[in-house]
Amino acid sequence: MVLRPAPPGSGIVFRRASGGAVIRAALDAVTGTDGRVSLGGAGGVQTVEHLLSAAWAVGIDNLDVELAGGEVPGMDGSALPIFEALRHAGVERQDAMKPVLRVRTPVWTGEESSWIVALPAPRFGAAYIVTQDASRLEDQAATYDPARDRYEEVIAPARTWGYERDAEALRRRGLALGASLENTLVIGASGYLNAPRFPNEAARHKILDLVGDLALLGRDIHGYVIAVRAGHRLHVALARGLRDQGE
Ligand SMILES: [Zn+2]
Repeated sequence: MVLRPAPPGSGIVFRRASGGAVIRAALDAVTGTDGRVSLGGAGGVQTVEHLLSAAWAVGIDNLDVELAGGEVPGMDGSALPIFEALRHAGVERQDAMKPVLRVRTPVWTGEESSWIVALPAPRFGAAYIVTQDASRLEDQAATYDPARDRYEEVIAPARTWGYERDAEALRRRGLALGASLENTLVIGASGYLNAPRFPNEAARHKILDLVGDLALLGRDIHGYVIAVRAGHRLHVALARGLRDQGE
């Protein structure tokens, strides 16, 4: 993956090194939310959420992303390597304003025991509740207030997590081929198979994903988001609901 500066108004755009269409990171480009966010359908790009999350945290709105393959590299399963690369390269202020989306009234979506809501608030913030299906793991929560918490300390290092029992099925579908105990927090029948970086690493990672998925709006959100047992599909559904709120 090669990241290059882009002019104001271009947004974050993905290109395959082999050619093909340029895909802008936007809600209308989303073609998949099953375990990862895919843009542009067949021939498009997959797993854009950690890059979008890190770029948002560094304050980058315009970026040209060239990919050797069809997927953003997973690296250590967190957003920290991308955050550090972007921070090291530096950020240039551009002569354009980033539009703001103000949450005026509660916007929510969900199903069964999973839901997500955005509430009016003077700036962005998020809280996430995660439950895990393992006998020794308790429910966990994480909160993120960008005015108080340093993204690179509390959010970026949190890794992708998943169930050992799902790994074989994912591999048969050609997914999660790079997943290992080095880059994934893996849950077995009774608990974690490897050491978590934080007691609530899973909930922190969900906030990492949420921030990246909401970045598809291309606007700064003034609102507080609360998610319970949600994931990419509900994150994108909330983003669409916020867009359609019309502010
Ligand atoms: Zn993730």
